[in-house]
Amino acid sequence: MRKAIFPGSFDPPTLGHTEIVARATALFDEVIVAIGTNSAKNSFFTLDERLELLKRSFAHLPTVRVQAYEGLTVDFARAQGAHFLLRGLRTGQDLDYERPIALINRHMDDRLETIFLITSGAHSHISSTLVREVIRYGHDAVGLVPDEILEMIRAKQAGAK
Ligand code: ADP
Repeated sequence: MRKAIFPGSFDPPTLGHTEIVARATALFDEVIVAIGTNSAKNSFFTLDERLELLKRSFAHLPTVRVQAYEGLTVDFARAQGAHFLLRGLRTGQDLDYERPIALINRHMDDRLETIFLITSGAHSHISSTLVREVIRYGHDAVGLVPDEILEMIRAKQAGAK
């Protein structure tokens, strides 16, 4: 069974993430969208909120599973029996950032391959960082995040007022 881990913060999930995962379902039997919880980053959406946002975003894809993990991604991948790490590339800057991470991961586990999918032009300007700013300052995230999570995001914006 070909399993891939798609690790990230997903704070929040965006149409960039859903594009990469949807395309990956044609390549892998299972894609585990995994929220890493050990990063020093302070998240805008809580872990529970991000899990729920991801579940709603991928409810229509039966081979996609959503999970949180602590520790190194390589250890999580091994525990899951996954031999592939999936990452999305928007720009050359993303590649510069990803290259050493992929090499270190393969240094730690040489059976683990990182697979990069290049995002389409339609989504290459979208980052969780920018989408967070849109949301934080009360603008609507339509066209940036999956339709399935718009309501939940609007409810959080309404609660924050
Ligand atoms: P991280 O905290 O690791 O940067 P993110 O949640 O921002 O996590 O991203 C997770 C993965 O999704 C990364 O591989 C990142 O390159 C990819 N990604 C983020 N935004 C996009 C996008 N707009 N198009 C394609 N891939 C994306």
